[in-house]
Amino acid sequence: MVGADGIRSTVRRLLWPDAAGPVRIGVTAWRGVTPAWDEDIIVAISWDRGAEFGMVPLADGRVYWFAAVNTEPADSAVDELAQVRARFGSWHDPIPALISATDTVLRDDLACLDEPLTTYVKGRVALLGDAAHAMTPNLGQGANQALEDAVVLAAVADRPDGLAAYDRQRRPRSQRVAKASRTIGRFGQQLDNPIAVASHGDVLAGIGSSVLRSPSRVATSAAASPRPGSRHAPTATRWPQCESGRC
Ligand SMILES: Cc1cc2nc3c(=O)[nH]c(=O)nc-3n(C[C@H](O)[C@H](O)[C@H](O)COP(=O)(O)OP(=O)(O)OC[C@H]3O[C@@H](n4cnc5c(N)ncnc54)[C@H](O)[C@@H]3O)c2cc1C
Repeated sequence: MVGADGIRSTVRRLLWPDAAGPVRIGVTAWRGVTPAWDEDIIVAISWDRGAEFGMVPLADGRVYWFAAVNTEPADSAVDELAQVRARFGSWHDPIPALISATDTVLRDDLACLDEPLTTYVKGRVALLGDAAHAMTPNLGQGANQALEDAVVLAAVADRPDGLAAYDRQRRPRSQRVAKASRTIGRFGQQLDNPIAVASHGDVLAGIGSSVLRSPSRVATSAAASPRPGSRHAPTATRWPQCESGRC
């Protein structure tokens, strides 16, 4: 049996009763997608104290964006888009326009499995995806790691030692990625110290690329232009490999 039932996995709770469950990390995140966008957009993340806003042009011409702030967990607001506008509407261009063009947003109070499991396999049961290694989204790797799990599991499933091989191959890498993602969040979006916030872009890019072993994914820091009349001039990190086209 494969337990692929997400961060609040019932399979994990029943068969791994001693494992610590997910913990909230004190961050609320919103995600949205704009309609087709005419202007050029580069993949970029802008930071302020305890907050970030990221944008990613999609292959079909729309723009995916995400926003996150340090918060206490709270009930969903009646109008989540208004919450985003209130928090990020005075940030630099094109952030206000991206928010205004968006109809609906997803909101999540972020959580992760802070204590890594000692095994992903018990008897004939294997955990996969967030059930095994729910991580913060700072590296954009939760679903990617679930897919890697699935590929490896499918490749070894009919071997006598298949589940042990799955655990051996997948646990170290997925837990390393989860740890790096948590670290990037702590020293990135969650940072509240103004001096640290101003200088952390290159450090974060270094952590991410060393774990994922993808040298092309190295970011460069760039000062984002403040919006006229805006108090916010967050630092921005650009992903150069995406500048020539949409990602
Ligand atoms: C704000 C945010 C941004 C993210 N950004 C990215 C990103 O850019 N890139 C990336 O790779 N990942 C990202 N992720 C992470 C990604 O969403 C998850 O890692 C991924 O969805 C995990 O997939 P999963 O199949 O393991 O779990 P889930 O997607 O949670 O699916 C679990 C499924 O199991 C079902 N289920 C639960 N309990 C039962 C039950 N008892 N019986 C039957 N079915 C059950 C659920 O209904 C659900 O369909 C992000 C997450 C968040 C919150």
